[in-house]
Amino acid sequence: MEESNNKSLNFIEQIIDNDLKEGKNEKRVYTRFPPEPNGYLHIGHAKSICLNFGLGEQYGGKTNLRFDDTNPSKEDDEYVNSIIEDVKWLGFKWDGDIHYTSDYFDQLYVWACDFIKKGLAYIDEQTSEQMREQRGTPQEPAKPSPFRDRGVEENLDLFERMKNGEFEDGSMVLRAKVDLSSPNMQMRDPVMYRILRAKHHRTGHDWSIYPMYDFAHGQSDYIENITHSICTLEFENHRPLYNWYLDHIAGDVDRTQQIEFARLNLNYTVMSKRKLMQLVEENIVSGWDDPRMPTISGLRRRGFTPESIRNFADRIGVAKRDNIIEYSLLEFMLREHLNKITDRVMAVIDPIKLTISNYDEGVFEDCELVNNPEDDNSEKRNVPFGRNLFIEKSDFMADAPKKFFRLSPGKEVRLKGAYIIKCEDYITDAQGNVTEIICTYDPETKSGSGISRKVKGVLHWVSAEKAIDAEIRLYDRLFNDEDPLGHEDKDFKEFINQDSLQIIKSCKLEPSLANAKIEDKFQFMRNGYFCVDKDSNPGNMVFNRTVALRDSWAKKK
Ligand code: ATP
Ligand code: MG
Repeated sequence: MEESNNKSLNFIEQIIDNDLKEGKNEKRVYTRFPPEPNGYLHIGHAKSICLNFGLGEQYGGKTNLRFDDTNPSKEDDEYVNSIIEDVKWLGFKWDGDIHYTSDYFDQLYVWACDFIKKGLAYIDEQTSEQMREQRGTPQEPAKPSPFRDRGVEENLDLFERMKNGEFEDGSMVLRAKVDLSSPNMQMRDPVMYRILRAKHHRTGHDWSIYPMYDFAHGQSDYIENITHSICTLEFENHRPLYNWYLDHIAGDVDRTQQIEFARLNLNYTVMSKRKLMQLVEENIVSGWDDPRMPTISGLRRRGFTPESIRNFADRIGVAKRDNIIEYSLLEFMLREHLNKITDRVMAVIDPIKLTISNYDEGVFEDCELVNNPEDDNSEKRNVPFGRNLFIEKSDFMADAPKKFFRLSPGKEVRLKGAYIIKCEDYITDAQGNVTEIICTYDPETKSGSGISRKVKGVLHWVSAEKAIDAEIRLYDRLFNDEDPLGHEDKDFKEFINQDSLQIIKSCKLEPSLANAKIEDKFQFMRNGYFCVDKDSNPGNMVFNRTVALRDSWAKKK
């Protein structure tokens, strides 16, 4: 508590604090998260979720989850469900029922009729090209539509018939009569309603007309008594229109205030549902939840924790100007959390046989390992040791340079939690590849026995007989360019990293991992953080590498 009080307030908190001081909105703080269900949420949305729900919690207010479902041709229940799942997984709880802008279609229609009745809206039958030609420039006013001064009765009649589906898609629109010479182009008679005779995911074929974002968003905020409507900077020039509509609907009362902040941009990725959809539809990734995707479901499957994402959102704060955040910061927050919570286990990704020649065949003994040395209350577990083991191929060199502190002929290393072993010999195949390493162990040196010698290398290992097989999926960044969308002459897909997925079969894991469940997370000693993939099953385990132990990209750049 102390700490958060001392933290300097961001500009949104300052606005809210000020509103509370002035007693605005009966001192309520109601926020909302308003996704359009036209795709899966990405890490940018996670930022917005953390911000909106975070403020609701911080000020003892509440936060609505509202689906902004005004564009039936692109929306789907699959997206609604995935968004609900993502918000829950991040650990937030919305107030009461889920809201949908489509719940307000009747009310919005009534309000639109009121605008017509006040002479503030008209039906325009021009084509969109004609309207575009008349728009003018910021310096030059727009030309009035020939339909701008139609009578109220005619407008009401046409609007009703638009609603009843009498006219073709695109044949006419309802426009607000605002200000054709405003320097803000949003105010030059914006469209309020369009004809779209598509099936809506909730209202079916009830409506043939749908409100535009600007005629729905502020009104929905108003209906839900939202006090602070937080959105990204691209809506800054929509704010006068947001207020204009509410001036006419609500009048001069305390009401929602729109506040804009800079959207989250991350390097080495793209964050637009439309672009992410292309990757899915063109099978460049396996789906919206492909572990390389910046979607919340992709990050989840990759092994991110909700805490790491929330900590990241907190750490980057809110900005008023666009900026780009390093992907490695997100991974840093992830490592920081996984380091605290994961058990350290032994898994050999690229195995080679190692035989302890002075250890009896068929005999096994338990070696005790601490699950998580970062946790003072950590439990311990037993790992079986025996004559036949696997270690990583890269931990042995037949002809090793001086500084190679792993295994090589005549050298000693410690096997983690077990014994000090000495390499006596090795076996090669016809091509000269090493196929087996022969060692002896020193029975005096079991870990915990108190008897030891200084050895430089500590290797992870598994028992050949007791290990379980698993498939391991190693990931790299999906794009090999910092700003895949920043090239005018090139499509962002040209920057796909072709080596972003590497599948390794027959990895050998210590037997305790046989009970791991989907999404369980571990540190595979020396190899990184891993989690069980949803494709995994007891006969065919699949692990994703979430992130390496260290940032390997820091060097590459
Ligand atoms: P995209 O442009 O990526 O497709 P969108 O803005 O169209 O996203 P919406 O469903 O309209 O997606 O967004 C829901 C909320 O999330 C909005 O309030 C929007 O401002 C916010 N949001 C979207 N992208 C980001 C981002 N990169 N950073 C922060 N907030 C974001
Ligand atoms: Mg949008």
